[in-house]
Amino acid sequence: MPLKNDSLAEILSQRGVSRRDFLKFCGAMAGVLALPQRYTTRIAEALQTAQRPPLVWLEYQDCAGNTESFLRASKPTAAEIVLDVLSVDYHETIMSAAGHQAEDALDETIAAHKGEYLVVVEGSIPTKDGGIYCTVGGYAAVDRLKQVAGGAAAIIAVGTCATYGGLPAAAPNPTGAASVSDIVKGVPIINLPGCPMNVQNLTAVIVHYLTFGAWPATDQFGRPLFAYGSRIHDDCERRAHFDAGQFVEDWGDEAHRKGWCLYKMGCKGPEAFHNCPIVRWNDGTSWPIGAGHGCVGCSEPYFWDSMSPFYERLPNVQLLGVEAEVDKIGAGIVGAVAGTFAIHGVISAARAKAQPIERHEVSAPEEE
Ligand code: SF4
Repeated sequence: MPLKNDSLAEILSQRGVSRRDFLKFCGAMAGVLALPQRYTTRIAEALQTAQRPPLVWLEYQDCAGNTESFLRASKPTAAEIVLDVLSVDYHETIMSAAGHQAEDALDETIAAHKGEYLVVVEGSIPTKDGGIYCTVGGYAAVDRLKQVAGGAAAIIAVGTCATYGGLPAAAPNPTGAASVSDIVKGVPIINLPGCPMNVQNLTAVIVHYLTFGAWPATDQFGRPLFAYGSRIHDDCERRAHFDAGQFVEDWGDEAHRKGWCLYKMGCKGPEAFHNCPIVRWNDGTSWPIGAGHGCVGCSEPYFWDSMSPFYERLPNVQLLGVEAEVDKIGAGIVGAVAGTFAIHGVISAARAKAQPIERHEVSAPEEE
């Protein structure tokens, strides 16, 4: 493990983070990673002895939403502890250095820690016209990314722009915006899509790496299975209303006020894989569907094109009968709850069969 000197235990002690809060954090991370709670101790032991890997955070065609997500976590949780676990040596938005001084910091880190440092990338990378649409410190983003990535231990692409190209890559993609995976080859890449990514998942990925010495198992899009292994629809708090045929028909109607299902208002939860309903946002306070807005599928590839119009049911996606069944259920043709459960079970099984999650086992912790 790469490294800077002070251990996490020393740093936390200096910052006045209590042992109790630290163990609560480790327990929460075990939960996000879908590990049994008995892993809490192992995570705590690993983090206390881990040396701080250097990390550089690159921003290209982005809105800084992932940086905001990273910094907005409160309590001694995600962002604070990640900042303690890591040595963030370069981050344009939060570092005090600027100009040549900042670029020198990046050059020094990648030279001194070759093969050891982690890279977080936020934003897409323009490739048209020699990459001139995004330059930092005189470098085209595409060139600087290749240079920095070449000596990295791994890259974590955060947000939909870095993982799939995001909004800049939406048709007609005027800058030739590309994802990290399109540009970088031969380096492990973990994708954390979402608009923005959830800092709990970024923290959990790093905790997994520091605890087990390996990256979490991922799906065919390089997304960790612990965070993107199940559909939003399957964990949604409004799911009982879907099964019961209780749908919002108009914004602000009685059904909307009662918290019924948003499927007819364009919710893409049945097509989106993410742990939003479980981890939620703002320290677990709420999440889009909980606040009354349908899922827009922001963790899915090219969602700006593939999931829009956002306020209509998907026009071109085969939902294997859900469209038809939803109308029947809403019209009361299928009234019994038991009946709708059975129907939805068949639909879900059919869709699961039609859309298997291809699992690329990068690594997984052994059972204790
Ligand atoms: S369609 Fe959307 S709101 Fe309805 S249960 Fe599924 S995820 Fe939840």
